[in-house]
Amino acid sequence: MTRIEIPDDHPRRESLEMRERVIEGHLASIVATAGLLAHGRGEAFDYLIGEKTPLTARAAIRAAVAAMLTAEHPVISVNGNICSLVPTELVELSRLTNAPLEINLFYYRKEREDAILSALHEAGASNVLGTHDRPSTTIPELSSNRRKVDPDGIGKADVVLVPLEDGDRTEALRKMGKYVITIDLNPMSRTSVYSNVTIVDNVVRSLPLMVEYAEQMRHLDREELLRIISEFDNEQNIRDSLRYMIDYLESVSKKSMKELQVTQ
Ligand code: ATP
Ligand code: MG
Repeated sequence: MTRIEIPDDHPRRESLEMRERVIEGHLASIVATAGLLAHGRGEAFDYLIGEKTPLTARAAIRAAVAAMLTAEHPVISVNGNICSLVPTELVELSRLTNAPLEINLFYYRKEREDAILSALHEAGASNVLGTHDRPSTTIPELSSNRRKVDPDGIGKADVVLVPLEDGDRTEALRKMGKYVITIDLNPMSRTSVYSNVTIVDNVVRSLPLMVEYAEQMRHLDREELLRIISEFDNEQNIRDSLRYMIDYLESVSKKSMKELQVTQ
């Protein structure tokens, strides 16, 4: 239920509906206030790829899913924004890749944890890690609340999916030897640059795609999956994502104002 009615034919309907979901998440204590700003930054970058998943992101998704399927202990880190936008897909991806969900919040409040936990349960999750009643261990070199991790989750994970992550924490996870996969619309963020696999796309499109890829790829041989990972070059993929943005803007700059009114 959205709070405001957005007409079906509104040219910005999908984007506005997404924004409404995040606002509702904020009202329900799922999304932090800073999460609203993070979402706005994401919206701006989404314009730069025409609000569509580029082929570069598909290549990164393929490598990411291969890494999750071959991992010994894959984990999916959950924050407020991702939970408000794609709870069902998080649960589905967790099931398909045997990667537990771990709640990990920068702005911790007990009621936020509770709200996220119940949203995940509502979406079908049964076992959620990182809650206050669980044991916790710490990530060295981090001072925020997010240094606390679940020893059965991120603590022992070899591969961690951290959608919409903070740069400092990504760096700390890398220093701990984790293989880090992120989804971030900004290819220049510190998170994007530090990660092993960076999916430059909106989580609203890429999480469903990851589920789709996981359904198909879990039938592949381990050797084939390992080959997909080793052939993926994240640095080149980030460069290609930036190039995609430049080329997209170049094409937009040639459009007439009339065409822009219809498409934007
Ligand atoms: P860093 O600390 O890594 O340099 P940052 O400080 O720019 O990053 P934050 O504000 O901590 O980033 O996190 C928000 C990031 O998430 C932004 O890069 C933003 O583009 C991205 N983002 C926000 N919403 C989405 C979304 N729906 N899908 C994908 N990425 C998103
Ligand atoms: Mg940051």
